[in-house]
Amino acid sequence: MATKELGKAFEPADAEKRLYDYWLKNRFFAAKDKSESPAFSIVIPPPNVTGMLHMGHALNNTLQDIIIRFKRMQGYNTLWMPGMDHAGIATQNVVEQQLRKEGLSRHDLGREKFIARVWEWKEKYGGVIINQLKRLGCSCDWDRERFTMDEGLSQAVREVFVRLYNEDMIYQGDYIVNWCPRCHTAISDLEVEFKPDQSNLWNIRYPFADGTGEIVVATTRPETMLGDTAVAVHPDDPRYRDKIGKKVMLPLMNKEIPIIADDYVTMDFGSGAVKITPGSDPNDFAMAQRHHLEIISVIDTEGIINEHGGKYKGQERYEARANVIADLEKGGYMVGVEPYAHNVGQCYRCKTDIEPMVSKQWFVKIKPLAAKAMAAVTKKKTRIVPSSWEATYFDWMNNIRDWCISRQLWWGHRIPVWYCGGCGKVIVSTADPDKCPACDGTSLKQDEDVLDTWFSSALWPFTTLGWPERTQALKTFYPTSLLITGFDILFFWVARMMMMGLYVMKDVPFKDVYLHALVRDEKGEKMSKSSGNSIDPLVMIDRYGTDAFRFTLAAYTAQGRDVRMSPERIEGYKFFVNKIWNAARLTLSNLADYDENRSLNAPDALPEKWIKAKLNETIEEVTRSLDEYRFNDAAASIYNFIWHEYCDWYLEASKPALYGKISPERKLATQRTLKEVFGAMMQLLHPFMPFVTEELWQALSGSDENSIMVSRFPVVREEWSEKEAEKEMEMLMDIITSVRNIRGEMRIPPSVKLKVLISTADEATRASVENGARYIVNLANLESLTVEENLREPKGVATGMVGSTKIFVPLTGIVDIAGEKARLEKELAKVSKDLEQSSRKLANHDFHDKAAPEIIEKEEGKLKSFQEKFVALEGALNKLKEMNRQGMA
Ligand SMILES: [Zn+2]
Ligand SMILES: [Zn+2]
Repeated sequence: MATKELGKAFEPADAEKRLYDYWLKNRFFAAKDKSESPAFSIVIPPPNVTGMLHMGHALNNTLQDIIIRFKRMQGYNTLWMPGMDHAGIATQNVVEQQLRKEGLSRHDLGREKFIARVWEWKEKYGGVIINQLKRLGCSCDWDRERFTMDEGLSQAVREVFVRLYNEDMIYQGDYIVNWCPRCHTAISDLEVEFKPDQSNLWNIRYPFADGTGEIVVATTRPETMLGDTAVAVHPDDPRYRDKIGKKVMLPLMNKEIPIIADDYVTMDFGSGAVKITPGSDPNDFAMAQRHHLEIISVIDTEGIINEHGGKYKGQERYEARANVIADLEKGGYMVGVEPYAHNVGQCYRCKTDIEPMVSKQWFVKIKPLAAKAMAAVTKKKTRIVPSSWEATYFDWMNNIRDWCISRQLWWGHRIPVWYCGGCGKVIVSTADPDKCPACDGTSLKQDEDVLDTWFSSALWPFTTLGWPERTQALKTFYPTSLLITGFDILFFWVARMMMMGLYVMKDVPFKDVYLHALVRDEKGEKMSKSSGNSIDPLVMIDRYGTDAFRFTLAAYTAQGRDVRMSPERIEGYKFFVNKIWNAARLTLSNLADYDENRSLNAPDALPEKWIKAKLNETIEEVTRSLDEYRFNDAAASIYNFIWHEYCDWYLEASKPALYGKISPERKLATQRTLKEVFGAMMQLLHPFMPFVTEELWQALSGSDENSIMVSRFPVVREEWSEKEAEKEMEMLMDIITSVRNIRGEMRIPPSVKLKVLISTADEATRASVENGARYIVNLANLESLTVEENLREPKGVATGMVGSTKIFVPLTGIVDIAGEKARLEKELAKVSKDLEQSSRKLANHDFHDKAAPEIIEKEEGKLKSFQEKFVALEGALNKLKEMNRQGMA
């Protein structure tokens, strides 16, 4: 058979580049718009155009590639749709930073030039991540790559906006939003990060306007009092029941404001009375709407006090705070101050404190959309995996607020709304209007704001397939089959795609959503540059190869658990790659003289039947695990098969036949099995380790004409399920293991050939052992094997048991029994001591309270290994004592 000569070791750097180019050249990643085969599609969570590959991307994209390669090999017409997100704030910030170095701001350039500059940046530096995904082996259909700001997608965004607007689902309103005074934009509730802050609670006296007393309010932000328009108490609070409706004099502003009653007030916080600043607090804003209070904003978009702030006008918000406190103290209004720990909201991009602000924004009415998105999950039209996330999804959807979609940025999809300077008409249109339809005037001004980045990504599953055009791709691939993403964007993205997909396409965007966990370090800590525990995927790929890296990610991806990574773990799977390579060299060298035609009538012997039965089980397990997105189970199953069953047992058991020591027929049957099993093994492994498997597949076939990635994924073959043969072989393996254990316990060198006696009560077992004697002799390295029914136990033997079968290994002349006994006793004494120390340590309460969890875990591991050692030594010693009893020592 023509096989390729393999080098001594796998060279990932060379093979990865060569094979990826080969796949691209042969267009194996390309999906067909129309095909006889069933469709299977995934849209990529589009990485930011500013993005660089981090461990989160590496995990996310490895899992997608595993599924897409698996489905492709199963014969599906697979599409993995790639692309990138324009990432509004992130990208704008990058270019603004670049400008700042030149001493410029975006305002110096003006909108048009600034946007041109962002495009320039994108062409030059954007999308680095796409090449990094290629290094990860991702088999995306790159010819279809989309960008959320490209022409087609931008047009789709306008279509959806206009449709929502015309159906009364979009409105503009005054609203309190989270404002970042640094980025100059509203950001969503989800984009606010909360940081614990040790601050103060100031208690301030507000005198009644009629001079009959006072009411005390508590606040963490005294400067906002400049914009107070009421004081609120709980309607049932007995302290204030007769004060409701009275007026107080707002200190420093000399202005009367009312005392109102509202259920929202907590009676036991501070004095039970709170100041209401609708312009600076979302809860106060809601209360103002309920009570029709005046809404005054005293802080402007830069975080500076404006003209409504009296004499504090022009002061920065924290500077104003200090001055307000000083003036309140001077005026005798400050009752006291106490330390107070609370959370302060910050911009997730630049960490500036958020300033809640009332401004005109565009909103999507979300409740009707959310209701349909919930129903789709209830009806299982979309399945969330793991299902534990469903509750979180429903909870969030039930409490959802209208979606503020406008952002005060320049980089993004500009809102398709124009205002007529002549008659004031509002024009909402998919195309730029050139005149006003009402007055024919041409002085039209487009809305300054752009849409939230998530607006376009919410449309991603259908816009990437060509919507609003009714393309064949849309027909074939929508709804998509599966979405794989991190649980952290369930609301940002997944929920919004559900809502928009159902609204626009009248169908769910995907049938399954698999949510994976975050990648952490091996101790479970979050990875970060500052704590020095972050892992750069590209460094890992350079060091250990892509295959080892990907396999590690899959092996540690268990549903509902963090993915804990360390370079050592990846290195561990690099050894697995080496193991596979060495097994391949051995396999291929034994196939050099293989003649397939001559092998046709050669019958399989026991090891062949056994390994094929095991292969069947592995195929079944890997397939089922991948169908259920149990990546770690699939990886474990294929790992065990390759390492333990194929390498440890089958390759060893097949050697006599391969070396022609049995018969030409046996050699042919063994060669045939090696080829079939090794090939199937590579196919099962291919989705996880695409490169080394392709290299070996081509070596096996002696040609690069046929690629593993378009070969058919193995299926269970009924004729290979041989339960009897499996049981028989496993009994022989147990006997061999038992002899090997005795060898190990008694420290008999592997080169010493043993004479072994086997006693069994049962005729069938005896026949099996006799049939398989050659494997036992060979693999346990025996000089002779005697099998008898009900053999009397001879003297001077170590005994092993497999079921009711007894294995006797005579030791006389092989082991120095007295010396061995002394050694075992000494070792046993030492282990007993270790064991006692370790158990005492673990029983100690102090240790449990103070030690870090990983230290405790380590100690528990030590204890377990001492216990195991103890049992083994004790067993060996008992065997010797047994011989003593027999008078042999
Ligand atoms: Zn910011
Ligand atoms: Zn007009």
